[in-house]
Amino acid sequence: MELCDMSAVDLAAMLRKGEISSREITESVFKRIDERDKTLNAYITTVMDMALRQADLADEGFRRNKNMPLLSGIPIAVKDIICTKGIRTTCASRILDGFIPAYNATVVDRIINDGAVITGKTNMDEFGMGSSTENSIIGPTLNPFDTRLVAGGSSGGSATAVAAGEAILALGTDTGGSIRQPSAFCGTAGLKPTYGRVSRYGVIAYASSLDQVGPIGRTVEDCAMLLDAIAGHDSLDSTSAEVHKPDFLKSLKKDIKGLRAGLPKEYFIEGLNKGIKESINESVKQFEKNGIDAVEISLPHTKYAVAAYYLIATAEASSNLARYDGVKYGFRTADNIDDIIEMYEATRSQGFGKEVKRRIMLGTYVLSAGYYDAYYLKAQKIRRMIKNDFDNAFKHVDFIITPTTPDLPFKLGEKLSDPLQMYLEDIYTIPLNLSGLPGLNVRCGDINGLPVGMQIIGKAFDEETVLRVGHGYEIITAQGAGRRAQG
Ligand code: GLN
Repeated sequence: MELCDMSAVDLAAMLRKGEISSREITESVFKRIDERDKTLNAYITTVMDMALRQADLADEGFRRNKNMPLLSGIPIAVKDIICTKGIRTTCASRILDGFIPAYNATVVDRIINDGAVITGKTNMDEFGMGSSTENSIIGPTLNPFDTRLVAGGSSGGSATAVAAGEAILALGTDTGGSIRQPSAFCGTAGLKPTYGRVSRYGVIAYASSLDQVGPIGRTVEDCAMLLDAIAGHDSLDSTSAEVHKPDFLKSLKKDIKGLRAGLPKEYFIEGLNKGIKESINESVKQFEKNGIDAVEISLPHTKYAVAAYYLIATAEASSNLARYDGVKYGFRTADNIDDIIEMYEATRSQGFGKEVKRRIMLGTYVLSAGYYDAYYLKAQKIRRMIKNDFDNAFKHVDFIITPTTPDLPFKLGEKLSDPLQMYLEDIYTIPLNLSGLPGLNVRCGDINGLPVGMQIIGKAFDEETVLRVGHGYEIITAQGAGRRAQG
């Protein structure tokens, strides 16, 4: 096995023993990028020279002190919605053309302080809007298991990079499923933490009450290691929570025996791929054999989640995206226009892609006088009811098991002309963003050579249980590391 295909936890251990250097790992990763990324298109920007310098610094650190932070010397890819000082940040949009942030997002500062090696910025759907990484200025990212298929989205570049050995770990963001759905499609582990667990400072806003940064790795353990580095209160983000931060990697050691799992009946309905349903049922059996009690539960308002999400997310997006006007930063129309309003119009018409424009129009509509109560306010009430469903369920169970996606990775272009079909991709992931809860994708099988994803949902700020269950599952079934997309 090549270094770029190993798990972060294993590489960290070898670095500590002096068996390998960060330069060797980083070179192995860039060799793989060279071999595969012309096809896969997982990166918008790579920064090899900077990465090798960071790797050498990490190696120098190890020569002096074997107890460097765990991320030291580990190559990590960063989704291009997260600001990186001195490295262009595009959000896969023309409107941010030429934008080079003057500061790092808190999550980037935290991994750099821990010695991580940043490999580059990954491809995504423009501003995070999409489920296939097809809405990107540089074109789609392809699925590493089958390049005729999509990688999922919007963090499709991050998931593909990790699955294909083009990074050891990656940061993604998740507003309605964008870490978990591409992880399901690419066979990676991916966690959306509780809203407030990770700082959003320096993360370009899509829908501020839903957005959350999280780790993507080859194993649940790897995700825990990256979460340890990025989680925790940040005075620069007033929505980041001042709560106890456990040691996530250590807490994986606790046994899962005796935990109670809930299976929401509203998630196993018509429209769910039969093979995925069977894989989840099989996984539940494995859990039961290992001392977990599984019971049926009900989350009665599930069917309203997608509709409520597309009202709330678009409303927030229309307001957040108002800042791109051709004046402050990024793209400005090249047309010679004297009138400022016309300049705004031309800049925004030329700078935003089709899906982003659709969302802005929908969002301004639902917020407009006369419609606000009927749409936006009503969606907020539904949001509360969905949260209440989860609160009730968690009185009886410790975690919840669902499929991550209703179907397997689909063909490129298949859903592009039908936005509603695309929106339904996130039917199982959106309820968690609406209620702020943590959710993890774990690979739970294969159908015709394509990975299947299971979602583990936890109580607010109980990522410990979510990760422990996911890790427990990987141990029971020997999934995860070593079962990657070789291509
Ligand atoms: N697919 C959903 C959307 O388009 C979720 C995307 C995300 O989580 N960023 O809004």
